[in-house]
Amino acid sequence: MRVTAGRRDPEVGFYCDDCDRYSTWTPPFADGDDRCRHCALPNPPRAGKGPDGAGWPPVETLDECLQCGNLELYTRKDLPQQIGCAVVLSAVALSTVAYAVWDFPGAFAVFAAVAVLDFVIYRRIGSVTVCYRCHAEFRRFPANPEHRPFDMHRAEEYDVGA
Ligand SMILES: [Zn+2]
Ligand SMILES: [Zn+2]
Repeated sequence: MRVTAGRRDPEVGFYCDDCDRYSTWTPPFADGDDRCRHCALPNPPRAGKGPDGAGWPPVETLDECLQCGNLELYTRKDLPQQIGCAVVLSAVALSTVAYAVWDFPGAFAVFAAVAVLDFVIYRRIGSVTVCYRCHAEFRRFPANPEHRPFDMHRAEEYDVGA
């Protein structure tokens, strides 16, 4: 897993108001960055005053959702759920095979190896900050300690309000 130069820059991902598909832009905001890649609908950022000239948004802090201005954001590991499941399933499958072939110590060794691999991958991937309201995603912004891991109850409040 190599990290290319551009991969280190902050990135904003948003879901289109109209077609609900995912687009991204990288700060600083430029004209047209808010256009959906799929249907070209503008999804203008509404944080603070919105884009107010060159150099917006500031990337030193992330206090509010840049897309909708919501103040409640949460953090999670930037790992698609499917990959996590695939790792666990392959660990189970591999250790089952190993059990059949080598018996218990072999199966255990395989399971341990996959667990270590899982841990290494987990440590290497970064976190993403997500908006409770519009689900916009913010990658590689400096961590804000006020953003806590996902809270189901808080998310439900938004679902009811929507
Ligand atoms: Zn769209
Ligand atoms: Zn938002």
